[in-house]
Amino acid sequence: MINDIRERLQQQISQLIIALDGIVKTTGMPIITDKSGNPLWVDVREITLRYQIPVKKIQKFFEGLKEGKVLATKCPKCNTIYFPPQDDCPKCKMSNLEWVEMPNEGELVAYTIINVKPPSFSHYSDYIIGIAKMANGVNITAWVNSKEVKIGMKVRLKVIRREPEGYITYELEPI
Ligand SMILES: [Zn+2]
Repeated sequence: MINDIRERLQQQISQLIIALDGIVKTTGMPIITDKSGNPLWVDVREITLRYQIPVKKIQKFFEGLKEGKVLATKCPKCNTIYFPPQDDCPKCKMSNLEWVEMPNEGELVAYTIINVKPPSFSHYSDYIIGIAKMANGVNITAWVNSKEVKIGMKVRLKVIRREPEGYITYELEPI
């Protein structure tokens, strides 16, 4: 499944590069017009970057997702809640923080609609990224699964499977 997506993205990039040839021939510059009508410089040099992130210290977070829970860490000394979770409190210079469940209700405080996507996200329809202030006062950044969005909108934090990759992750949806 993931390999299919990768191949599809590669095909789209190849098509773009072919189209770019024609544009450079006629205009002398690799500048295309994006979906919003804005000029976009498309660099011909390509950087391949695949993140591999050690997650041992936050393994509980992924175990939580599998159980449908979104977990954060909490410093037992200063009570700061960290989300995304981290295992160290820089204020107290402490490790091995406690795990706590994030509340599932909050309020949308900011959002942006992504209609010009980076090539690696080009297989998604336009999507909304939002920041919600959750009931414990902690902000969470996530995709917002909603046709309409409004600042101040009540949202629910939900564990979902994001297609087409099939990843288990979390998102916000209107209540
Ligand atoms: Zn602390």
